[in-house]
Amino acid sequence: MSQRIKKCDAFALKVTEYSNTSQIIQFFSKEFGHIGVIAKGTRNPKNKYYGLIQQLGNYEIVIYKKDTTLSLLKEISLINDHNRLTSDLNMTTLAHAAAELYLQLMFEKDDHEKFYILLNQFYEYLPKVRKNHILVFWRFLLRVAGFLGFSLQFSKCQVCGIQNSELFHGISFVHNGFICSNCAGKRAATEHFQINESTRKLLLTLKSLHNLESFEITEQDIKTINTIFRTYLSHHLHKKIHFRSLEVL
Ligand SMILES: [Zn+2]
Repeated sequence: MSQRIKKCDAFALKVTEYSNTSQIIQFFSKEFGHIGVIAKGTRNPKNKYYGLIQQLGNYEIVIYKKDTTLSLLKEISLINDHNRLTSDLNMTTLAHAAAELYLQLMFEKDDHEKFYILLNQFYEYLPKVRKNHILVFWRFLLRVAGFLGFSLQFSKCQVCGIQNSELFHGISFVHNGFICSNCAGKRAATEHFQINESTRKLLLTLKSLHNLESFEITEQDIKTINTIFRTYLSHHLHKKIHFRSLEVL
């Protein structure tokens, strides 16, 4: 076997059509992280892999690996198509948003496996919940932030240490967690994002996710907390992170 032939387990984060019969797939693999792959002829109905490669699917792939251009797909078999994710628009949207986030992240070599497992857990868990899937998504974002080295802390004001959650006034991007009204008043308004009582309660529940189906979450709260996460990730990654998939929610 050539040195360049590699086998790995991977998620298809993005699938696009290429030429008349081919596809280009952005995979995230357990072994190598991001890999761009060209699958020749897979849109030809006579091809043995016709119709197999779908976005969000989990596959075992064999590729001819190239470092500077697209790798070539040699063999592919399905591990899990996660078809339950597509049974509900809300769930599909969140699953796509997770893939969209991974496409924007750079991963350290040693982190590939844990990020792969995290995405797999998110896709497995999402269909097990009947409502409030967004809480599972936020929890996933918290774990992504933690793995990247900037966990959000929700137990106390991150500046003065006060634990009375009634006094939490906002989320500080600089101090990675809640900031109380007293400390926020002494700092630039651009350092934090102001929250109201319901968003504060939702953020506090993310630590444990007990009874996650018992919450009633408003559209406005969803928008606010999505914005907090987007801004928080953008601040730490020094680039603008987007969740276009979520715009349909
Ligand atoms: Zn404080």
